[in-house]
Amino acid sequence: MDNVLDDSLKAALERQRSAFQAEPFPSAAIRRDRIDRLRRLVKEQADAFCDAVAADFGNRSRHETTLLEIAPLLAELRHARSHLARWMRPRRRGSSLEFLQLSNWVQYQPLGVVGIMVPWNYPILLALGPLVDVLAAGNRAMIKPSELLPKTSALLAEVVPNYFSPAEVTVVQGGVEVAQAFSGLPFDHLIFTGSTAVGKRVMAAAAQHLTPLTLELGGKSPCVIAPDYPIDAAARDIAFGKMMNAGQTCIAPDYVLVPREKVQQLTEALTARIRSLYPAGAQAGDYSSIIAERFQVRLENAVEEARSRGAKIVTCEIDLSGGGFRFPPTLVIDPPDDCLLMQDEIFGPVLPIVPYDDIAQAVDLINRKDRPLALYLFTHDNTLEKRLLAGTISGNVTINGTLLHIVQTDLPFGGVGPSGQGAYHGFDGFVRFSHARGIAKVRLFNPTIFATPPFGTMAKWLARFMTR
Ligand code: NAD
Repeated sequence: MDNVLDDSLKAALERQRSAFQAEPFPSAAIRRDRIDRLRRLVKEQADAFCDAVAADFGNRSRHETTLLEIAPLLAELRHARSHLARWMRPRRRGSSLEFLQLSNWVQYQPLGVVGIMVPWNYPILLALGPLVDVLAAGNRAMIKPSELLPKTSALLAEVVPNYFSPAEVTVVQGGVEVAQAFSGLPFDHLIFTGSTAVGKRVMAAAAQHLTPLTLELGGKSPCVIAPDYPIDAAARDIAFGKMMNAGQTCIAPDYVLVPREKVQQLTEALTARIRSLYPAGAQAGDYSSIIAERFQVRLENAVEEARSRGAKIVTCEIDLSGGGFRFPPTLVIDPPDDCLLMQDEIFGPVLPIVPYDDIAQAVDLINRKDRPLALYLFTHDNTLEKRLLAGTISGNVTINGTLLHIVQTDLPFGGVGPSGQGAYHGFDGFVRFSHARGIAKVRLFNPTIFATPPFGTMAKWLARFMTR
């Protein structure tokens, strides 16, 4: 490891840490001011962000960047600003009978300096979204954007100092070597958003200092269409969730479980729906590019493997000319469960359609795989909904839609097990980046006076009462 790099990262962390020590519990007014500055940054730089992301992707629709990155970010900022004072208030907690004259409460205390590691797929939302909660909780932050988006990362590094001092928020640019050094810094908390494979390395690096971690990872997020649900309506919502950012979305529907007799109907409905999203083809700019050639090749190989092993491939023909790497929207009908497409997160516009004969079989298939980041259920049957919710575990769920849970500012967002640990957004994010300090205060007298030697009648009575 380059010592110069190591020293400059440590110096940046030290600068933030000493500024934090000088102000370890910023007031609501200070936090609101930081949130307001972040809001100004997002609003004033939104156009520049759209341009930079589009240039790094080859093509990424401005509408996608605005609707899926800028808008949710502004919603989180509004929500945090208006609830901040209430979130910061100490929470009263009860005390048991023998300790009735104590008062107990929880104080949410800032942690210090939080590291934020960002993937390439939603580079603005996933850099600045965690920052909303980090700042609301009274912390400072160092952000490491993805090396796969040089223009966006450079823009972030250029504009952040116009709104924040380096002791408040700083952006660290660089490649994998910098990311590795960054993940090994002794932060007070580190939030990593990225792949499960790199998440393991980040966890190992953080373990050196026992740095507390939030891991926002990936996985295979299933859709289950129940027998009662209209196929056209499900196809509309699945096409939306899958095609945004050309499937390069952590919570994109990864595969669809559908009653066997409805496979053909779903295939036709999805093909028609997806084609209708891009009537003028990719050059109209609405169809995002694949970020790098190696990801395009990975998708091609995975589809070819499924084809060679008997899956039927249906390509939604759209004109793919235009900038960047493009992959055609592709449906893969009934692939074998041990093929690449059914084992690894797909992260592209390829959608396996998997038939099931009864719902228990669908639940079993989901449960045999790693716990997913998101689960999508399509049903109007409340009993079935309860059964599916009780029978599966996932980070989040949207029922009768896709992606929607991520933009609900009052819901925790995160994975479970291999899809991540620790959730953020709104109050849950504030709590995640705070230390919940339990405080017990003796008011009138300290009950331990009855429990000290020499133990007499009172101590015996107390012992009997306390071991009741
Ligand atoms: P990635 O894991 O390749 O990279 C993420 C970050 O890790 C980047 O900043 C990179 O610089 C850094 N990095 C790379 N190698 C490293 C190493 N050896 N040590 C330390 N850091 C390293 O992920 P990606 O390709 O940028 O993003 C796609 C993945 O992210 C998908 O799996 C997707 O599901 C997941 N994701 C999850 C969420 C979520 O909220 N759960 C959101 C978006 C993306």
